[in-house]
Amino acid sequence: MRFEGKVALVTGGGSGIGRAIALGLAAEGALVAVNDIRPEAAADTVAAIEAAHGRAMAVPADVADGRATLKMFTRFLTTWNTLDILVNNAGALFMAPHVIAAFEAMAGEVQAGRRPTQPLGATSTMEDGVWRRTLAIHVDGTFHCTREALKVMEACRRGKIINMASVAGTSGLAGAPDYSAAKGAIIAFTKSVAKEVAHLGIQVNAIAPGFIDTPLLEILSPAMTAMALAQTPLGRLGTVAEIAAAALYLAAPEADFITGQVLSPNGGYVI
Ligand code: NAD
Repeated sequence: MRFEGKVALVTGGGSGIGRAIALGLAAEGALVAVNDIRPEAAADTVAAIEAAHGRAMAVPADVADGRATLKMFTRFLTTWNTLDILVNNAGALFMAPHVIAAFEAMAGEVQAGRRPTQPLGATSTMEDGVWRRTLAIHVDGTFHCTREALKVMEACRRGKIINMASVAGTSGLAGAPDYSAAKGAIIAFTKSVAKEVAHLGIQVNAIAPGFIDTPLLEILSPAMTAMALAQTPLGRLGTVAEIAAAALYLAAPEADFITGQVLSPNGGYVI
């Protein structure tokens, strides 16, 4: 039980990778606060943890909203008093239908052995609202939770923060300029905060997964998924268990000498 007596908060814990991390931390003894913007999803993960005899509480909130995030922290700190592990995982991927259609056409050209000729148009047609919402969820959300978590961790002089980045942030993902920018920002934020708090015994790292089989990828068209697989030397999507294992490693004492790093389980997509 690597996390006996530890208190963790996992954002976006109602689905996919966050749910697997929350379940994994709870299975190894942590008390887990499960955040999600969808209250029913957070409650469902809590129910699954409790069914496995773990301890958890649902703390629904939109992490893009600083006030709502502060309220969420106040709520679970009132009950559990401390925070040892923060996993900034909440995220979303938006793609306009015309960009998906353009991607399909592009994939068709590539499959036919031709160079693509038409614009994807993801950046040239990006609406302000989509751009800002993507950055708000990922970058503001990670900042809001880290700010509140550090108030506790700096006082305790210990803590682990794990930020969910992506290969989009290390290599760029065509068709998702907002998402790629947000994930790149999360990586730079991770490195900056890691340097800031290292002397206090707090480690801050990022995970940059490749393509993982979760509801987030449902927006991709079949041709986009096929292209992602073709660019992944291991030839398959990753599983949420594989990303949860990386997160639990970074949260555990074995990783105490690791800070400011980007661990990228990506099936060889980026080598
Ligand atoms: P998912 O859609 O299964 O889960 C994301 C969860 O975050 C959802 O339950 C959603 O309700 C929640 N969420 C969204 N916006 C929120 C907000 N503002 N506040 C609180 N909760 C919010 O997706 P996933 O694949 O498990 O993604 C988890 C993280 O991993 C994301 O940061 C994503 O960008 C990242 N990631 C995913 C992949 C992949 O291929 N699936 C690859 C790299 C990185």
